[in-house]
Amino acid sequence: SACPAFAADLVVATDTAFMPFEFKQGGKYVGFDIDLWDAIAKDIGVTYTLQPMDFSGIIPALQTGQVDVAISGMTIKEIRRKVIDFSDSYYDSGVLLMVPVDSAITGPQDLKGKILALKTGTASADYAKEHFKDTEFRLFPNFDNAYLELMTGRVDAAMHDSPNVLYYINTIGRGKVKTVGEQMMGQQYGFGFPKGSPLVARVNASLARLRKDGTYVAIYKKWFGVEP
Ligand code: GLN
Repeated sequence: SACPAFAADLVVATDTAFMPFEFKQGGKYVGFDIDLWDAIAKDIGVTYTLQPMDFSGIIPALQTGQVDVAISGMTIKEIRRKVIDFSDSYYDSGVLLMVPVDSAITGPQDLKGKILALKTGTASADYAKEHFKDTEFRLFPNFDNAYLELMTGRVDAAMHDSPNVLYYINTIGRGKVKTVGEQMMGQQYGFGFPKGSPLVARVNASLARLRKDGTYVAIYKKWFGVEP
């Protein structure tokens, strides 16, 4: 049915690099979020243009209405709900530590006096600041930078969302980095919207349909190799 409120081409913010949810490959953005959002957009009949940006710029862009949607493996946090709206959750996650394979660090208890790399404005950075005392933090706009600093020994450990850390360990960091300790901070991802966006209800309805008709499962298997 005709719905003028959604006639325009939506501007969709996405993180510049958050593997395997959104990242550039062969000149275009690919990933779990990219595929899931594309399926939702087709299902609800909207067109869109991706606008990659650093994660820390995404919530401000939603607040000022510069973008209509954000797809960036964004953690649903109560404090964020004060300034933006979230879709229903679409992915269960956590955070993990990453260290060089020869590191003596065996878990968060060994971070005292060490330098930990984090990503600016993220839930994992908030968690680290709250839980790790006597640890020095280095913040990077992008986790690729954190990984490089770990490789060159300028930081002792890096911490970010579990699927992202595992992606490094299984791709460019294979044999060079490992994870230590247990997964921390259970979290769920949602798509972000400006407060009061009429898109939220339509996206939630679409997510439910795509979960039912197998589309969600197929996309999940494509990127994570297992059933959700
Ligand atoms: N899930 C984390 C957050 O929302 C990080 C997401 C990301 O790095 N794109 O804070």
